[in-house]
Amino acid sequence: MKFSAFNFDSRLSEGIEASGYEDATPVQELVIPLVLEGKDVIASAQTGTGKTAAFLLPLINNILSTPFDEHSITALIIVPTRELAIQIAQHMEGLSYFTSVSSIAVYGGGDGGAFVQEKKALSMGADVVICTPGKMIAHINMGYVKFSGLKYLVLDEADRMLDMGFYDDIMRIINALPAKRQNLLFSATMPSRIREMAKKILHNPAEINIAISKQNEKITQLAYVVYEAQKIPLVKFILHQKEFSSVLVFCSSKQAVKQLTRELKRTKLAVDEIHSDLEQDKREEVLMYFKSGRLKVLIATDILSRGIDIDNIGLVINYDVPHDGEDYVHRIGRTARAAAEGTAITFISEKEQRKFQSIERLLGKEVPKEKIPEQFGEGPEYRKGHHSHPNNGRGHQNGKRPGNFSRNRPAGR
Ligand code: AMP
Repeated sequence: MKFSAFNFDSRLSEGIEASGYEDATPVQELVIPLVLEGKDVIASAQTGTGKTAAFLLPLINNILSTPFDEHSITALIIVPTRELAIQIAQHMEGLSYFTSVSSIAVYGGGDGGAFVQEKKALSMGADVVICTPGKMIAHINMGYVKFSGLKYLVLDEADRMLDMGFYDDIMRIINALPAKRQNLLFSATMPSRIREMAKKILHNPAEINIAISKQNEKITQLAYVVYEAQKIPLVKFILHQKEFSSVLVFCSSKQAVKQLTRELKRTKLAVDEIHSDLEQDKREEVLMYFKSGRLKVLIATDILSRGIDIDNIGLVINYDVPHDGEDYVHRIGRTARAAAEGTAITFISEKEQRKFQSIERLLGKEVPKEKIPEQFGEGPEYRKGHHSHPNNGRGHQNGKRPGNFSRNRPAGR
């Protein structure tokens, strides 16, 4: 379906064209008409499906076609991480480039200057505000946030927000909003807690489901069954063996990221790390270098597993097994974006075997196990039903709000 079928405002159509979009993706085709009709929507769609534009486009169009209160926030988009806030703000800037619609991203860890800009936008009015929950609460507590004319609420990656413990913060923000508004909720998964939350927030929503696995077909998945001590030599071997465009290595803890980065920096590889301990400028710089291709290998915590949009990643390595199937799908989904092919390699240590088997059950297939190259010795046997260590897996970064990052442009009318 062509975007022209939506009859968007011509200034918005220019932004769509300049962004290089021609046909609407399935989630856009389903969600956009519902939002334009004024319906509440609950959509299960993960990153990569085009879900961001599915809510931004109708919001921008409505803002352009309806006179809203200039001195209030019109649309509030709540997201789990600052990285996602920045990414949505960038999408927003691209799509609304030829319009007068203003937007600002509000997230924790900024400096005083950022706070002043945020305060100005939140108290004097901005069309679209993209925020993380904690930072918005901080502003609300100061008493100047103007929600009186708010018309739209979007909760993006709602499952992730609940995983990160933001339920109470979200409900506190919603309590500060006018009751009459249009609500959109996006979530990669729909566990019962999301449905319960949706019942409290949405009114008679239309429900949209976009299948998870579409983007996975282009990804070649394989795994190595290893002893923990074999992981570092094997990762070095893989990285030196073949020319990959860009490589993203996921570790489940900051400590593992730091240790692996130290090890790989000793080789000749252009490698760096990203996790929540880094300062804002540093994280921004590292991501920029990686996106530009100058940095070949980026080692990251799960902070980068969702919502981050970097093309050209040829290989994802799970240095350890992700927490669950959803995290696995998100991590490997960083490769084979756009039309490219990609490879995802997972290292499974002895204590991670059971966890990986439950991921394979969720995927509905077994991931092929490669034999470890001889020089590294024998690996352990892959034993079905093997008991895993009770405390392995996910580090603690998911429960913590991430560190500093960069700021989007201030709102301006
Ligand atoms: P998202 O699922 O929102 O993270 O979007 C994934 C990627 O698809 C982003 O790089 C978008 O810019 C891109 N995208 C979104 N909608 C379209 C479209 N209709 N045509 C082409 N690319 C799109």
